[in-house]
Amino acid sequence: MARIGFIGLGNMGGLMARNLITAGHSLKVFDLSEEAMNFVVQSGATAADSVKDAASGVDFVVSMLPVGANVREVFMNDGVIAAADPGTVFIDSSTIDVDSAKATASAAKDAGFEMVDAPVSGGTVGADAATLTFMCGGEASTFAKAKPILQGMGKNIVHCGAAGQGQATKICNNMLAGINALATSEAMVLGQRLGVSPEILYNVISTSSGNSTYFEHSNPMPGVVPTSPSSNNFKPGFMAKLMLKDLRLSQAAAQAAGSSTPLGAAATAAFQMLIENGHGDLDSSSVIKVIDPKVK
Ligand code: NAD
Repeated sequence: MARIGFIGLGNMGGLMARNLITAGHSLKVFDLSEEAMNFVVQSGATAADSVKDAASGVDFVVSMLPVGANVREVFMNDGVIAAADPGTVFIDSSTIDVDSAKATASAAKDAGFEMVDAPVSGGTVGADAATLTFMCGGEASTFAKAKPILQGMGKNIVHCGAAGQGQATKICNNMLAGINALATSEAMVLGQRLGVSPEILYNVISTSSGNSTYFEHSNPMPGVVPTSPSSNNFKPGFMAKLMLKDLRLSQAAAQAAGSSTPLGAAATAAFQMLIENGHGDLDSSSVIKVIDPKVK
């Protein structure tokens, strides 16, 4: 069993850290929020008093932070890299821009450390149940070291390629999910306005070429799929503001790679509008409100 420093104990990180304790690891944890720290300390973790404290005297450092600037700061600004013992392996599971992931891995390497970017899909439900999917970027030998730790928090653990390619894979997936949320909304509203009932639209399209995981399981038309957030007042699920964050990351990555993403751009604009209308904390399926503001 390993000694793990865990930094960033929010909606995702708190549950992930708790599962590592359940898996038998010993955890030293740090978050800027005392409340977030208490949640994990009550489950058996030791409270660290700083990033550097969490990163020293451990075999692995796992981070789960909001954005790339946080990851750069925590690792590079007199933080994890300065404090870790030789041989410590770094795992960053935050969803961040590819450039920040590569820059942090490169700074770690220059200081003699190994690092993987390992963003997740599965949301808080997957974080709680330890069924997350991890998309990992880094050396194959580093991935092999990180995998047993990731298995304490997830089920599907995939090596996607070199440093930054875990983030690249995550961004492509979430861009497609955002596009599918918008595309499904358009089809459901159009069909209804043409006089077809939402139930018939669902039954036909979910077994036809227009189907997608989004259409089938998270359909944005309320009442069609009882377990979809749309049928539960758009309670998340995956918040619209997080979807916009990931769509923006996809657009920055597309620009840097010179890759054309007209549908990704359209989805980004639609989610921006949704959030300007005050719906950022609703589930992403609420993007249907941009197509038909009367949907409740
Ligand atoms: P969150 O805002 O709930 O948690 C982030 C935590 O990081 C907070 O508790 C905050 O206090 C802490 N933090 C920020 N800066 C810090 C610092 N310098 N030192 C120590 N702690 C610091 O966010 P979340 O929902 O847990 O998401 C974390 C990451 O996972 C994000 O990148 C997000 O995009 C990604 N993600 C979230 C979900 C989801 O459903 N919530 C799903 C997949 C991926």
